[in-house]
Amino acid sequence: DLLSNKIAAGEVVERPASIVKELVENSIDADSTIIEIALEEAGLMKIRVTDNGKGMSSVDAVQSFERHATSKIMNEHDLFRIRTLGFRGEALASIASVTKINLWTSDGETTGTEVHIEGGHLISHKSAALRKGTDITVSQLFYNTPARLKYMKTIQTELGHTIGLVNRLALSHPEIAFKLTHYSQTILQTSGSGDQLRVFSDIYGIGLAKKMISFEGSNADYKVSGYVSLPEQTRASRNYITLMVNGRWVKSYAIDRAILDAFHTYLPIGRLPIAIVNIVGDPILTDVNVHPSKQQIRMSKEGELLSLIQEAIGQAIRQNVI
Ligand code: ADP
Ligand code: MG
Repeated sequence: DLLSNKIAAGEVVERPASIVKELVENSIDADSTIIEIALEEAGLMKIRVTDNGKGMSSVDAVQSFERHATSKIMNEHDLFRIRTLGFRGEALASIASVTKINLWTSDGETTGTEVHIEGGHLISHKSAALRKGTDITVSQLFYNTPARLKYMKTIQTELGHTIGLVNRLALSHPEIAFKLTHYSQTILQTSGSGDQLRVFSDIYGIGLAKKMISFEGSNADYKVSGYVSLPEQTRASRNYITLMVNGRWVKSYAIDRAILDAFHTYLPIGRLPIAIVNIVGDPILTDVNVHPSKQQIRMSKEGELLSLIQEAIGQAIRQNVI
């Protein structure tokens, strides 16, 4: 119902960046190869996400806004083997309860659909001629929850959160061409070539990309790979560590620590590296159902994984520094 959607919105929809995250993750799950994100007023006024993914049928388009409507989990067994970014089926319902939404979608087989929703209420639902894919516009964020709107920081701060997020999503999916614009000004554009270092270069500049060193390693359960900065490229904040588990951008204090420890064997404490860390393992070993935002992760055999990361990064640094 509407009330529980609004309560869930409090957990899933913290700020414009959280809406962008859910929409773009849906586009990724729909196997899109091109995703465009267009913002107005840092997304507070308007967030539009256009993809060329598999789209939805007319029935699914309306159902997608119902709570626990997910096409991604069929049973309890699936819940422990999650390969998609979404699985809870509550993001669209939550977002719809605190915004106005226009959705155009087509699965390329049946006629396309246009749906308009305000504050969780279906206002209109009609057919439309379309190419395959989905185009969703979320506008007037928190228009019916003014208390939440008051918590928004400046346009610059909100935009910063969204840019940081899209950078991470682009890094975790180098095979997808991303474009982020703010009032039609291009902020990030990636080619979708599949080369992660090239995405890094699109974000941080070619100068920095050239100075990154690669690492890799594996144990019985996990494969790790990625790039770290050389000692002279240090940063003042941990924000330069990007962690991906099976293609999902996640946050893990323990893994951050392992990366920092690997560094501090060779570098003075207080200097922080830039790092991109990809971890691949059986989804059964990871639990992302810790919080509705799906950002925190719990991993099995974590101790072994932490040593693996530390060794792989340590070895790469030794080879390049000493
Ligand atoms: P979840 O991603 O957890 O399944 P959401 O509320 O985010 O739940 O989305 C509900 C459903 O709507 C998805 O399971 C999917 O079937 C459909 N959907 C949402 N966005 C898209 C999209 N861009 N392309 C295709 N299907 C989509
Ligand atoms: Mg989703």
